[in-house]
Amino acid sequence: MEVNTWKEQTQCVHSGGIIDKKTGGAITPIYTSTAYDYLGEGPLNYPRYFNTPNQKVVTEKIRVLEHGEYAITFSSGLAAISAVLLALLKKGDHALFQGDIYGGTHHAITSELSKFGIDFTFTTGFDSSDFEKHIRKETKLIYVETPSNPLLKIVDLRAIASLCKSNNLISIIDNTFASPINQNPIDLGIDVVTHSGTKYLGGHSDITCGAVVTSEKLGEKIYKAAVNYGGSPDPQMCYLLERSLKTLALRVNKQNENAQQIAQFLNGHKAVDAVYYPGLSDHPSHTIAKSQMKGFGGMLSFEVNGDPDTFVKKLTLIKPAISLGGVESTITSPTRTSHSKLTDAQRKVAGIKPNLLRLSVGIEDVGDLIWDLRKALGLLP
Ligand SMILES: *Cc1c(COP(=O)(O)O)cnc(C)c1O
Repeated sequence: MEVNTWKEQTQCVHSGGIIDKKTGGAITPIYTSTAYDYLGEGPLNYPRYFNTPNQKVVTEKIRVLEHGEYAITFSSGLAAISAVLLALLKKGDHALFQGDIYGGTHHAITSELSKFGIDFTFTTGFDSSDFEKHIRKETKLIYVETPSNPLLKIVDLRAIASLCKSNNLISIIDNTFASPINQNPIDLGIDVVTHSGTKYLGGHSDITCGAVVTSEKLGEKIYKAAVNYGGSPDPQMCYLLERSLKTLALRVNKQNENAQQIAQFLNGHKAVDAVYYPGLSDHPSHTIAKSQMKGFGGMLSFEVNGDPDTFVKKLTLIKPAISLGGVESTITSPTRTSHSKLTDAQRKVAGIKPNLLRLSVGIEDVGDLIWDLRKALGLLP
């Protein structure tokens, strides 16, 4: 069977892997060498050129899963994002960002881009018209994140792709929250996909990595800059990421199912004021989510009717922890973590209430998770 006809569960397990002819072993060996023969054919191999064996294996798997022509694996999500921005923007350019993107990306943009004479705007809304009104003749790219953090808002990716095409702009999405199992933005016309592999791609809360998937043309441009900025990954991490990706579809599909059931449970509970999950039919962008996502993801947020810290302390299975996307369920307060640096007024504008909690749903038994939530909600003062 041709590789490109494999379904994604098969791609997760097999795409990219090296056949170890020397020993007949069933999986990719770890190649730790940083020094390679320069007399052979082809390009020179060196870890910072992103072309040593374990880097290439895992990169190919990610490329196949995201339906792109070209991919690069990085040592962190922000190494991927900064390489993309610094490769595609130059002095005098303007870039347009969705207002509520990941805090670390927001910080990188506001603290670094102006040093290079690059101007930027953050939108307040999510509709393509909210982006369109800020386009100038210097604008080079639009950058979005959907579903968004922490309120799981949805941006219409087909609308953004067509806005970019008609204005000759590059469209970029941070696809971390959805993972390639739930959303393939390149199929919808988006030019560049970035990931923090620290989340779902890694999936076990134990590695830091990132990735970019795009066209051949943009990929080569990003690659040239990435070699200079140096965010290349090491072979042990690449091996762990390859191993993690073998179960990506299994994990994410289970997380989708668990999150849907938990969202429905919370939606009907009297101690919960609001639930934000794109898989709920009363989510304001449920129809758009359904048209562009294959699954609604493992992330959801909700407002408890009571003290959020008291609630979290009553949980015994779900762990209070920042970050997301692991096999274990974790919960966090955006007010106390990702959005702690905003003023009360800024949080209010962003729709982040003090009683909002963000849940990253794991692969545990959903009955056990609901038991934990029900118990803690019942004990709310
Ligand atoms: C975590 C995260 C990042 C940054 O990734 P790192 O691996 O921490 O550098 C970027 N975007 C999103 C949506 C994230 O959740």
